[in-house]
Amino acid sequence: MRIQHEYLQNLMERVEARNPAEPEFLQAVGEVLESLTGVVEARPEFITEGVMDCLVEPERIIKFRVPWEDERGQIHVNRGFRVQFNSAIGPYKGGLRFHPSVYEGIIKFLGFEQIFKNSLTGLPIGGGKGGADFDPKGRTDLEVMRFCQSFMTELFKYIGPDTDVPAGDIGVGSREIGYLFGQYKRLRNEFTGVLTGKGLSYGGSLARTEATGYGLCYFTDCMLKDAGRSFEGATVVISGSGNVATYACEKAAALGAKVVAMSDSGGYIYDRDGIDLACVKQLKEVERRRISAYVDTHPGAEYHAGCRDIWNIPCHIALPCATQNELDGRSAKALIQNGCFAVAEGANMPSTPEAIQAFQSAGVLFAPAKAANAGGVATSALEMSQNSMRFYWTFEEVDEHLKRIMRDLYHNASRAAEQYGAPGNLAAGANIAGFLKVGEAMLAYGIV
Ligand code: NDP
Repeated sequence: MRIQHEYLQNLMERVEARNPAEPEFLQAVGEVLESLTGVVEARPEFITEGVMDCLVEPERIIKFRVPWEDERGQIHVNRGFRVQFNSAIGPYKGGLRFHPSVYEGIIKFLGFEQIFKNSLTGLPIGGGKGGADFDPKGRTDLEVMRFCQSFMTELFKYIGPDTDVPAGDIGVGSREIGYLFGQYKRLRNEFTGVLTGKGLSYGGSLARTEATGYGLCYFTDCMLKDAGRSFEGATVVISGSGNVATYACEKAAALGAKVVAMSDSGGYIYDRDGIDLACVKQLKEVERRRISAYVDTHPGAEYHAGCRDIWNIPCHIALPCATQNELDGRSAKALIQNGCFAVAEGANMPSTPEAIQAFQSAGVLFAPAKAANAGGVATSALEMSQNSMRFYWTFEEVDEHLKRIMRDLYHNASRAAEQYGAPGNLAAGANIAGFLKVGEAMLAYGIV
C-alpha cells in the first residue's frame, strides 16, 4: 500500500523496518495512516509535534513466560503479552486473547486498533491488549485455572483499576476472567474493578456479555436506516459462534432478520429455516463442543468442514465475527455476486484490504470493526463506572447507554468522513474521529 502523503508514507516505511514479520500490525497501521492524510494536511502540528511518530510506537510492551503443570504432571511454558499502547485519554483498556496463533504482532495490531475504538466510544479509556499463545480448547477446568493463575502472577504487577484494565477476547470468557480476577484479588489483597467481563456475583455488569454483538447490530441498524434499508426480513450470515457471534445472532433475529449460517474454526452450519440459537448456545457455551454437532439435532441443516466458504452462502447482510483476515477478496466477490448489501465487522480486522476495496467499489455498506464492535469495550467502561460507584444499573439501563453510544459513534464516524472529504466511508471516518481526540490529548502533553 502506498500512502499519498509523503511524511506518512515515510513513517510507514520506518514502521515496516522496525516491525518486520508483523503483517497484521503493519496492515492495521497502514490502514489508519492512509486515512489520516486529510487530517495532517489540515493540522500539520500533529507531525511537527511528534504525535504521529509516537502514535505508532507502544508506550510499553510486557512479555513474560507462563509456566504451568497439566493434569498428567507435564510442565508447559507459554508466552504471555501485554501491550500498553496509548494512555493519552485514559487507563489502558483492551482484552486478553488466549489462542495458539498469538504472538507480539497480533497483540500489537489489536492494541493499536483499540486506541481508536476506545476513543470513539467517547469514554475515557486508552488502548491496550494482551494474551498468550495458550489454547484453552481441550483443557480441563483445573488446567485452565492453573494457566490463568500463572499468567496473572506475572501480569498483576503491571495492571490496576487506574492503570490498565484487561477484559476477555478470543479464548477468554467468563471462566477465564473468574480465575484471573480471583488470582489478582489474592495477590493484591484488594477488591477493585481491575478486569471487566466479570461474573455478576463479583462486580460484573449486566449486558456486558451481550454488548459486543448487540452493539454491532445497533450500529448496523443505524447504517442500514440511513441507506433506507433494515434488518427486517433480511437474510444474515454470521461467522464464528463465540461471544460476539452469539449475541449478534440474537439481536439480528430480534430486529427481524433470519440468520442462516454460523461457524467455528472447524467448519460452518447452514440452516435455511434460521439458526436455532438456543442449540448453538447449549453446544458452545455449556457443553464446549464443536458446531458440527448442530446437525445431529437439526437434520434439515448442513455442516461443511472448513470455514472460509461460509461467505458463498447467499445473504443480504454479512457479519464476520470470528477472527482477523477471515474474509478475503474472493469471499467478498462471492458476497457481492449473491446480492449482499451490507457488511459489518464484529471481529477485529476480519476483512482483508482487498475485501474492503471490493465492498467500497461495489457500493456495499461497510461498517468497520473499530466502530461497529466498540459496544463491548464501551460496556466494559460502564462496568468500570459501576465498580467505582459501587452501584449497579439494570440490564435495561446498560442497554440504553449502549444503544446511545453506538448511535453517537455511528454519527461521529459518518460526520468525520464527510468533513474530511470521504462521505459514506465509515472506515476512514472512524479512524479520523478516533484519532482526533487522542491526537489533541497527545499535543496537550508535549513530548512524553
Ligand atoms: P470467542 O473465543 O468467544 O469466539 C471466537 C469464535 O471465532 C469461535 O467460534 C472460534 O471458533 C472462531 N475462531 C477463532 N479463531 C478462528 C480462526 N483462526 N479461524 C476461524 N474461526 C476462528 O471470541 P469472541 O467472540 O470474544 O471474539 C471474536 C472476535 O471479536 C475477535 O476478533 C475479537 O477480537 C473480537 N472482539 C471481541 C469482543 C468481545 O467483547 N468479546 C469485543 C470486540 C471485538 P473455535 O471455537 O473453533 O476456536
